[in-house]
Amino acid sequence: MISYKMVEKFVDVKDEVTCNRCEATAKYGTYGADFHSAYYHGGFTSKLGDGNEYAWDLCEDCLKWLFDQFKINPQLPESNSDDESSC
Ligand SMILES: [Zn+2]
Repeated sequence: MISYKMVEKFVDVKDEVTCNRCEATAKYGTYGADFHSAYYHGGFTSKLGDGNEYAWDLCEDCLKWLFDQFKINPQLPESNSDDESSC
């Protein structure tokens, strides 16, 4: 038979996120504070470095700024919530 005892445990929990581009910060779980997290691992002969790893967070304003730089709009046609004909 196994008996149990209560122990105090310390764990890392997400507390705050900072935008890599503009340094805006927000507490995790804050309504309306939408951040996008991304990760990239450079493969063999990558222009960003063979085996180099990158991780970044962008606030929604900076994500919009990034999307505005694209020549091809990344928005999926089905995701346009302003289109009322799909209801
Ligand atoms: Zn930002």
